Amino acid sequence: MDIGFIGLGKMGFPMARRLIEAKHQLVVFDTRKEAADRLVAMGAAAASSPKEVADRVESVMASLPSLQASLEVATGNGGVIEGSRVKRFVDLSTVGSHMAVRIHDLLKKRDIVQIDSPVSGGVAGAEKGTLAVMVSGPKADAEAVRPALEIIGKVFFIGDKPGSAQTMKLANNFLSAAAVVATSEAVVMGVKSGLDPNVMIEVINAGSGMNTASRDKFPRAILPRSFDFGFTTGLMVKDVRLCLEEMKSLGLSMEVAEAVGRLWEVVIRDMGAESDFTTAIKPIEKAAGVVVGGAREAATRPNNH
Ligand code: NAD
Repeated sequence: MDIGFIGLGKMGFPMARRLIEAKHQLVVFDTRKEAADRLVAMGAAAASSPKEVADRVESVMASLPSLQASLEVATGNGGVIEGSRVKRFVDLSTVGSHMAVRIHDLLKKRDIVQIDSPVSGGVAGAEKGTLAVMVSGPKADAEAVRPALEIIGKVFFIGDKPGSAQTMKLANNFLSAAAVVATSEAVVMGVKSGLDPNVMIEVINAGSGMNTASRDKFPRAILPRSFDFGFTTGLMVKDVRLCLEEMKSLGLSMEVAEAVGRLWEVVIRDMGAESDFTTAIKPIEKAAGVVVGGAREAATRPNNH
């Protein structure tokens, strides 16, 4: 199948590579030329703008870092909306339901179908093709791109209402965001009173406290203090803010979500938008006066001479 792919970053690059490996014909574009060049070396064709991608294929996918980038790529000058061949725009980015509906309404005027298709499962899931792919939009168009989406993960059709897959994704990412800060607070409490964080994570993962932070983020990026999980604090805070907006627009007041939101605002203030989101533990450690994992062990290892 001929597929356009715009946005070849941490998520987009491995998804596009899997599509090429599965023998789909890709036309790619990214504002960072070197990202596109790497895929051209693997067999993709390069385009010089989102419009040119949309001149050449019926289905255009995008994996972009901000709501503004999705809006511009889809509907701006030189955007997908100006393409001559495009029939559908498949947005794999997390933009929230309000932006998804805005893009949907603008594209509809040009008879282009918007398919929401946010994904979950991180860079590792994108590399292995094990993402959860949440799809909303007209069923026939969702079915048309299903063979390609199945290359990147497990496809869940959420409904035909525009934006509904985005609402699903925000619910998921709120839980992921909560897990990171809640597990950080639990482990910092243990370390402050003298527990070994490695033992704590092993116990939590064998017990009822197990979650995606204790299972994946602590062993891979927090306990070894590599802080290189592959998702930025800026993107996590974007999703948390979108979730709070979504809850508010539904007239809901969510106490846990608001507390989680406040903690993530501290993380972005202290660690910066470009930091890996696993650094969320650092402000919690600082307030407690402890360090969890590698550095602490080295600092407090008894001298056995
Ligand atoms: P990223 O910043 O690594 O990649 C974004 C890519 O888009 C970059 O290559 C950038 O050069 C390109 N880009 C930016 N503006 C552009 C434009 N106007 N035209 C063309 N290309 C443009 O971001 P990412 O981590 O890959 O995340 C992408 C999306 O996927 C976000 O919506 C994010 O919330 C979502 N997501 C990320 C993860 C993750 O673990 N990283 C997991 C699930 C969902």
